[in-house]
Amino acid sequence: MSSALRKEYLAALGLETWTLRGPATAASEPVAAPFDESAPVVAAAPREAARRDNVAPGDAAAPREAAYDWLQLRERVAACTRCGLSATRTQTVFGVGNLQAEWLVVGEAPGAEEDRQGEPFVGRAGQLLNAMLRAIGLAREQVYIANVLKCRPPQNRDPMASETMECLPFLDRQIALLKPRIMLVVGRIAAQNLLRTDAKLGALRQQVHSFGASGVPLVVTYHPAYLLRSPAEKRKAWEDLKFAREVFARG
Ligand code: SF4
Repeated sequence: MSSALRKEYLAALGLETWTLRGPATAASEPVAAPFDESAPVVAAAPREAARRDNVAPGDAAAPREAAYDWLQLRERVAACTRCGLSATRTQTVFGVGNLQAEWLVVGEAPGAEEDRQGEPFVGRAGQLLNAMLRAIGLAREQVYIANVLKCRPPQNRDPMASETMECLPFLDRQIALLKPRIMLVVGRIAAQNLLRTDAKLGALRQQVHSFGASGVPLVVTYHPAYLLRSPAEKRKAWEDLKFAREVFARG
């Protein structure tokens, strides 16, 4: 995408942009654009119509998931009672987006609004995610969006390890079906679970990680909900998004 077009996108989102003075290297790139979650929301695309112990994320899916197509997987998730979150959810939140997407966005777990609507990243955090994607030239309907957990933890508490372990095979199968060219992982919880690390998010940013046996490039940034609470960090998120775009372009 040209710099001019990118600036147009940012302007359309109500994002303040500026360029660095001095020699034209990275100077032509808009920098540190604060994302505006109140920007117009891009309509979401229509939804696409085994317990495993000691299995690392990204390994081959458990036998019960490995052969599922999208519809079977969605039905399996909708009926899932593998962990206690099934007792407190309103509904499962499977995922949403383009089944031919090259970008997969992965978050932590549904919140209250997602639990009500059955779709990941809605509400203010969803609007901000849309703005973040749009800033790098991606419409929401061009990507696929999912969470590590398909059910909302009560009071939005952190997922328990046992819950994550039970639920990850579903995401593994989604990844196997989608075959994304890049994964953008938002937030500490999702990043730590997918990369099986205790490292802080700040230490995981600005690196190209490799996910699973297929080695999908994985880039980490902040969760939109965190950015709503800490708007000063939007500058870093913008750097991460540009980094992810470069990784994707490199192929
Ligand atoms: S969080 Fe995942 S494993 Fe737990 S009940 Fe929901 S779908 Fe099943």
